[in-house]
Amino acid sequence: MLIVGAGPGGLACSLLLAKAGIKVTILEKSDGVGGRTRVFEKDNYRFDTGPTFFHYTEIIEEIFQAIGLDAHDELGLIPLDPNYRIIFGAGGSLDATTNLDSMTEQISQLCGEKEANGFLSYIEDNRRKLRLSKNCLNTPWSGPSDLLSRRALRVSKVLRPWRSVSSDLSKSFTDERLQLAMSFQTKYLGMSPFQAPSLFTILAYLEYEHGIFHAKGGLGTITEKMAKIARDMGVEIILNEPVTKFIFDGKKVIGARTDNGDYTADRFVMNVDFATGMKGLIPDALRRRWSDEKLEQKSYSCSTFMLYLGIDKKFDTPHHQIYASKDYQGNLQDITEHKVTWDDPSLYVQNACVTDSSLAPEGHSTLYVLVPICNTHPTINWKEIKHEYRDLIIRQMEKLGFPNLNQHIISETIITPDDWASRDIYKGAVFNLAHGLDQMLWRRPQNKFEELNQLYLVGGGTHPGSGLPTIFESGRISAKMICADMGVEPDWNGVNTWFDEIRKPSYN
Ligand SMILES: Cc1cc2nc3c(=O)[nH]c(=O)nc-3n(C[C@H](O)[C@H](O)[C@H](O)COP(=O)(O)OP(=O)(O)OC[C@H]3O[C@@H](n4cnc5c(N)ncnc54)[C@H](O)[C@@H]3O)c2cc1C
Repeated sequence: MLIVGAGPGGLACSLLLAKAGIKVTILEKSDGVGGRTRVFEKDNYRFDTGPTFFHYTEIIEEIFQAIGLDAHDELGLIPLDPNYRIIFGAGGSLDATTNLDSMTEQISQLCGEKEANGFLSYIEDNRRKLRLSKNCLNTPWSGPSDLLSRRALRVSKVLRPWRSVSSDLSKSFTDERLQLAMSFQTKYLGMSPFQAPSLFTILAYLEYEHGIFHAKGGLGTITEKMAKIARDMGVEIILNEPVTKFIFDGKKVIGARTDNGDYTADRFVMNVDFATGMKGLIPDALRRRWSDEKLEQKSYSCSTFMLYLGIDKKFDTPHHQIYASKDYQGNLQDITEHKVTWDDPSLYVQNACVTDSSLAPEGHSTLYVLVPICNTHPTINWKEIKHEYRDLIIRQMEKLGFPNLNQHIISETIITPDDWASRDIYKGAVFNLAHGLDQMLWRRPQNKFEELNQLYLVGGGTHPGSGLPTIFESGRISAKMICADMGVEPDWNGVNTWFDEIRKPSYN
């Protein structure tokens, strides 16, 4: 079994396959594992490159249970309280927490009792929505005929495909700030709540119900530890070994080529960014549904403008903070229309050292700043504007309690959408293909890739979608399908129950 890419998707898949007794080799292009989920060090400060919010840990818990380990013990997960502070440009703030009594009290004070009751009914509604939709997200889809299955009928009761996250929330909340507090999470999918399907109201619910976690040393240590465990289980991970193309016999993948030679295997898993992998590793002539022309027509997520700052002091602000622009909707519209917002942009700042002092020298701290921005576009020249935009963002950070920042910056790294694109991320769309209903479930590239034989997909570009929990799920779904296709009965430590699903004829 050969996996191309040691991102979180590839690593999760490798753990389950190794436990099932399958020999796995991973070829990784860069000099370390983790992909976008990787810690980097500069000037003695350590930063997460990408993910900083780890929520809905249930999937990684089950994967670790399957290999006989405890995810919380192994990964050093630290629950945060509050989850984050959200500051509204329109006035007021909320400390989002899993303590629902505190939440109702805060909401009541901010916007009255009616909205506080709306919050409680939102929680109930989404608890039900998750229960009914879970089975749709944790099992593979192969085509529209799956729509007739029992799981699809169950989810149809709550999917409300005609509604967006935003319009769904307007039923529970009249105050726009609350609608925003329960909907900005669609940014995790790189989408606007005005476009994301209403199913995704569950994202905020998951935070209130299950909390948000940090991992000591950064979320990038999660992938480092997964790789160590994989190696201990016999997985071979070869770094600095970029695959330049797959080798085919007709529609069957039979090998992967690198500058050092060809690797053969009986099955292959691709963890490379989906569109980059399609265009770079598979000839256009072998793809119809995902041809270069069709890839160009798909919708892609937003990108991000990033600042990673090493600071010579500590700030007493929460671990995660979000500033929501006064004109939040206009800000989102700019992203969709490929404009850069210069007036009061929304942003997110992580002050991780308030929880984890291991990331900076004594008395110092790190700040990670993420500004959602449109993906790459010929009308935007980031080389020309990036320093001016950086200055604007530093000023904007005062609204989150970081005054006179310029005087305290010791180390600074800027990443623009163009930089993401140069790191093998198609259009710099860091959250991959967008998650509209037209690109989800059976309409997303399938885990057992529908256009070629012996190729499986993992990562944010396949089902169920982008974000660490769903990416780990893609690793689990592909591992299940590979075992089923190889006739292997995995010994997954008592959680083989989910393996029963895969034996149903519709998955093959
Ligand atoms: C700025 C940012 C913030 C994010 N924040 C969050 C968050 O807070 N919470 C959350 O859940 N998610 C977040 N995400 C989204 C997502 O969880 C991560 O991007 C995640 O790392 C994606 O995982 P993946 O497995 O799809 O692929 P990647 O992490 O991209 O891994 C792919 C791997 O394939 C390798 N590769 C590429 N080409 C080749 C080749 N030709 N040969 C061999 N190897 C190759 C790459 O080097 C890489 O190691 C964020 C992403 C970004 C960028």
